[in-house]
Amino acid sequence: MITRLHDPNYDRWAHQIKRTGGCRQPIHLRGKVEHYDRATGQLLHRYSTHTEPGGVLRVPCKTRRASRCPACAETYRADTYQLVRAGLVGGKGVPETVAAHPALFVTLTAPSFGAVHVRREKNGKVLPCHARRDAETCSHGHVMSCTARHAAGDPHLGEPLCPDCYDYEGSVLFNAVAPELWRRFTEALRRRFARLSGLTLRELRERLTVSFAKVAEYQRRGVVHFHAVIRLDGPTGPTSPPPAWATADALEKAVQHAAGAITVEVEPLARVFRWGTQLDVRLITMNGDLTEQAVAAYIAKYATKAAECVGTLDRRIHTLDELALHPLREHARRLIAECLRLGALDDLADLRLTQWAHMLGFRGHFSTKSRRYSTTLGALRAAREEHQRAEEITTGRLPLFDEDTVLVIAHWEYAGKGLSLGDQLLAAALTGTSLSYAGGASDE
Ligand SMILES: [Zn+2]
Ligand SMILES: [Zn+2]
Ligand SMILES: [Zn+2]
Repeated sequence: MITRLHDPNYDRWAHQIKRTGGCRQPIHLRGKVEHYDRATGQLLHRYSTHTEPGGVLRVPCKTRRASRCPACAETYRADTYQLVRAGLVGGKGVPETVAAHPALFVTLTAPSFGAVHVRREKNGKVLPCHARRDAETCSHGHVMSCTARHAAGDPHLGEPLCPDCYDYEGSVLFNAVAPELWRRFTEALRRRFARLSGLTLRELRERLTVSFAKVAEYQRRGVVHFHAVIRLDGPTGPTSPPPAWATADALEKAVQHAAGAITVEVEPLARVFRWGTQLDVRLITMNGDLTEQAVAAYIAKYATKAAECVGTLDRRIHTLDELALHPLREHARRLIAECLRLGALDDLADLRLTQWAHMLGFRGHFSTKSRRYSTTLGALRAAREEHQRAEEITTGRLPLFDEDTVLVIAHWEYAGKGLSLGDQLLAAALTGTSLSYAGGASDE
């Protein structure tokens, strides 16, 4: 820290750190950008990291995971919120007329893989977990009953009443096929609308678009479920209204039908997976119970979470020996171990369960949207970068050239990431972020 403070380049370093917005693990880039006049080939401007502190430029890591970098995850969360909200009320290039399109907030859950400890409330009172009068005793000697009224932070929540009865195989396989289930669900929705309207799928596409934005959320027991905004548009997406027959009511019926109609089979193990029976479908309205802000905030919140809430790891793990080094609760350990076991089977190589063991088998994207839902995270990022570039120009760092007449040649290479311990302290002070480090974060 003292070395850094006495460094003659300190001001420039501090500027770089401020620009990373409190990123906990900034990426170091080494390289240069050169601007040439297209007509004459004359070099107009040259920027090189050579003159930067340590010879590198520090840029934000842009992770979406709050467990890795709270500052970047917050940016991601805010962008996701804007993206979801624009798809409901317009803005960011989406016309406001989109607010009149039917839109539902749908939650698709996973089926049961065995009884787990739960916390349920009714009228503000916590109910007993699994109170059964004539509870069976399983072959492992566990009574299939639990009368505890679990506290919200009880570590047993989501854990099986009997781990030996619990279907760990089913749990991780469900996570592995969940993205395919979702894909088939959206296809079934379109097919349903085609049938209802007496059109072929191709004809339907000329009249109706089913747009969506969704996030995956881990339930405590370690399976994913999906929350999605599903919206009906005309052929061009949010810019055109859906046909009159494509109402919120018709969408709700189609969702109910499609969710129950599709399955995915894991053939080598002869296991068939479908959504759980708990299907929640709610209408999104600007002034009703479920507003567009609430939905956007909800989706954005889950977009920055991974499987941490289940108590698993946020990094890859490949062997049981590696697994043994981590202090995990038994349930998370068994879910990961099951991924490693199934991942070793040649027949299941496609599911890549070893690579995704730390995610309990789920290898999909956390938040996805259909092409026409609204704007993109890339567009939101580009707008922000453009703003920063404008700022650079006004502060005299980058010359203002006409893009068409200038050839830009850039060369960048990765030069590590993270901050030394002293730099972490300074960065926290400079950016007003807290220091709650889960382990060191210097060069990997
Ligand atoms: Zn970051
Ligand atoms: Zn219980
Ligand atoms: Zn048992």
